[in-house]
Amino acid sequence: MSETVAEEACHHHWMLSSPAGDSTSGVCKNCGQIRKFNDAYQAPSRNTSRTAAKPKATT
Ligand SMILES: [Zn+2]
Repeated sequence: MSETVAEEACHHHWMLSSPAGDSTSGVCKNCGQIRKFNDAYQAPSRNTSRTAAKPKATT
């Protein structure tokens, strides 16, 4: 049996090309999947993992 890695299992590493107009196309560095982003802001260039912001410990 050979396990085939599903696309979902791929941790897509989007390499965004220079934005042409409104859309930006990025290709996954790992699986080579091409994805189009409507806006550069939608591009997951940053890990926007929202963690619970801990309140600053004020002494
Ligand atoms: Zn991928």
